[in-house]
Amino acid sequence: MPANERRFWLCRNGHIMGEIKKISLRPDGGQVSALMLYENSLACEAIPPAELPPLRQKLIGNALEIKCTLCEQRRDWFIGEDAFEHLMATRAKMNASRV
Ligand SMILES: [Zn+2]
Repeated sequence: MPANERRFWLCRNGHIMGEIKKISLRPDGGQVSALMLYENSLACEAIPPAELPPLRQKLIGNALEIKCTLCEQRRDWFIGEDAFEHLMATRAKMNASRV
């Protein structure tokens, strides 16, 4: 996937609810998918839209029933496998330091 390609996250009615971005959590360059949720959904025929709304939330973990602000359709966001592995690794490290 080219670095400049944008992946938008749409509700079932085609409103743009947010954007999926790869973000780095680790200094070694490991990346996870994060959902950048917009303040307001966009009803837009053109992708990418000319103007993007401000961000409401950055989601890395699972988020259920995110509501489209235009039509109230709900959609679930599931954590990417890469992010899941990162969380598990972090948790294992925390457990190990507790002993
Ligand atoms: Zn919608």
